[in-house]
Order: sequence, then C-alpha cells, then structure tokens
Amino acid sequence: MSASDCLFCRIAEGTIPARIAHADEAVIAFHDIAPQAPVHLLLIPRRHVGSAAELGTEDGVLLAQIHALAARLAREAGVAESGFRLVTNSGPDAGQSVHHLHWHLLAGRHLGWPPG
Ligand code: 5GP
Ligand code: ZN
Repeated sequence: MSASDCLFCRIAEGTIPARIAHADEAVIAFHDIAPQAPVHLLLIPRRHVGSAAELGTEDGVLLAQIHALAARLAREAGVAESGFRLVTNSGPDAGQSVHHLHWHLLAGRHLGWPPG
C-alpha cells in the first residue's frame, strides 16, 4: 500500500490533519478521532507497516521508541499511576480498521478485562 492510499501515512506526512501530541523522525502520536476513554491516543511508526503481524526482531528499536513514548505521554496526561492500556489490533478478528500499525493508549477510566 502506498502512502497516498493510507490514512495514517497521510496524517504522518501532514496532508490529513490530526491533533498531534508528539512527532519525531520515527514515531507520531495523535488523538483518536472517536475517543473511547478520556485519554485515547494513537501511536504510529512514521514508516508504513501494515500491522503487528509484520514485525520482526529488526523492529526492536521502533518498539522501544513506542513504549518509551507511551510511558512519557501517560506521565504527561497524569495517568501513569492510575493506569493505562497500550494495545494494538492486528487483523479482522481483532477489529483492525486502519491498516497502518498503531497502538491505542487508553486511560482515564477503569478499562474492562477481558476485552470484548
Ligand atoms: P483500529 O480499529 O484499527 O484498532 O483503530 C483505528 C482507530 O483509528 C480507531 O480508534 C478510529 O477511531 C481512529 N481513526 C480512524 N480514522 C481517523 C482519523 O481520520 N483521525 C484520527 N485521529 N483517528 C482516526
Ligand atoms: Zn501507512
């Protein structure tokens, strides 16, 4: 899939607007357009990756960057202590609807488990 066909590639390149919380050369975080919790951010690699099913050990640095960013954004949102969930949906059974790898950072309310 080329960048022009992918919604999150277009958000990453700035041609589709989003409420950006963080951007650097590797990763971007922005507010979900339909928040499911008081804090609902999406963390994505700038590079197009279809889903978590495509990840390998060569993506270790990216995964560290995503987790470090999630921890920092949770602290900044004041939910590092109260708790947060970092989750990525991969494929139809998980309900993945945007086919550019992303993690949901959800917080600010009690999050049920197991998920539906
Ligand atoms: P998925 O269902 O693939 O795990 O998550 C996709 C997420 O992207 C959903 O939570 C959805 O609300 C969000 N989303 C879809 N389109 C847009 C958009 O144009 N802008 C933003 N900020 N979020 C979007
Ligand atoms: Zn993409």
